[in-house]
Amino acid sequence: MEPCHYEGEALWIERACLTDIAAAVGTPCYVYSRAALEQNWLAFDAAFGDYPHQICYAVKANGSLAILDLLGRLGSGFDIVSGGELERVLYVGGDPSQVVFSGVGKSKAEIRRALQAGIKCLNLESDAELYRVDDVAEQLGLKAPIAIRINPDIDAKTHPYIATGLRDNKFGIAVEAAVETYRVACAMDHVEVLGVACHIGSQLIELSPFLNALERIIDFIFELQNEGIELTHLDLGGGLGIRYGDESPPLPREYIVALLEILHRRDCALPVSIEPGRSIVGNAGVLLTRVEYLKENAWRNFVVVDAAMNDLIRPALYQAWHDVLPVKRADGKHSKVYDIVGPVCESGDFLAKDRRLATAEGEVLAVGSAGAYGFVLSSNYNARPRAAEVMVDGDEFHLVRPRETFDQMLGHESRFPG
Ligand SMILES: *Cc1c(COP(=O)(O)O)cnc(C)c1O
Repeated sequence: MEPCHYEGEALWIERACLTDIAAAVGTPCYVYSRAALEQNWLAFDAAFGDYPHQICYAVKANGSLAILDLLGRLGSGFDIVSGGELERVLYVGGDPSQVVFSGVGKSKAEIRRALQAGIKCLNLESDAELYRVDDVAEQLGLKAPIAIRINPDIDAKTHPYIATGLRDNKFGIAVEAAVETYRVACAMDHVEVLGVACHIGSQLIELSPFLNALERIIDFIFELQNEGIELTHLDLGGGLGIRYGDESPPLPREYIVALLEILHRRDCALPVSIEPGRSIVGNAGVLLTRVEYLKENAWRNFVVVDAAMNDLIRPALYQAWHDVLPVKRADGKHSKVYDIVGPVCESGDFLAKDRRLATAEGEVLAVGSAGAYGFVLSSNYNARPRAAEVMVDGDEFHLVRPRETFDQMLGHESRFPG
């Protein structure tokens, strides 16, 4: 949990005390550090040096407008996977010419809107999508800038739900088949072939799958060159892992330097885009939750908190491990081993298991590394309003999304008419 530290008994994020934030905003509440967010983005940018590059933050990791706004101000581009994410980027004044659009199921309306907005590139994932994009572009009387997402058949060695670069996954076009797709694309009147894209998975904690994928993509680029097809950009996707517990993933700098070494050695000087999400925002945020009850039986001890799987689904969905820290450090003598569970009526509703803690009813806990795939995956399950979001900046904090109200939750619905 990098942006947080104890001063005496109290847990702080930058120069703001998390106890004060919980008291002012209530719980559950996501809290992000502007400094951590910006440092993480700048680490990628600096590592490229003067190599031509573009960092397209993956909006799906956390699409909070405040986060998009801050990253856009640094000059970030954006990787989107839906029309809704495009609207979010445009809403904060993000530069459409730095937007790449990924995803296997883009609708006609999404493609139309993206082309009209003037995005940089559609990353296509199937032959059927290529034909659709050519059609839509023809109707609009323009040429669609495209890349084709290659599936390099690389094992990302991550959780199966977030591995995307294997032949069995729904993503991308197999290398063996992709040359033919490029031939077809190059012959189309309303498509402009810019580049090649790949994204092999998320939360990768080793470099080798990234490097193997890059080698394979470079082979492929040379194969296209032999066919007379010249590309102008290379999009290497996101996926760099973060430290949740005892992982030691490569640093952004190590990752980029290793990529640049391969590009240099293979004599490939194409401009590179990357699409990091988790590695920018994951360790820039925590989820604050208050203890409702301590509950013990003969077999287990439970801390029942006011955040649940509808607020942070990663433990339930991916068996993910998140650190849990008391916002006010208590006397360790009274610690016990607990499961930290929410109020939702599912046995899968836990935030952490088997943690030694000293806590009590009314205390606030911070769930670490919650900035990525946290709020964005939240829902109203059990008719629970969605959490508040706060952005800390030095010693100030800003409520960037108030807690959802019951009126907002019910207001779009109607009773049965008649
Ligand atoms: C999810 C996704 C990303 C971001 O992945 P992280 O692991 O959060 O860095 C980047 N590109 C594509 C195409 C994605 O689907």
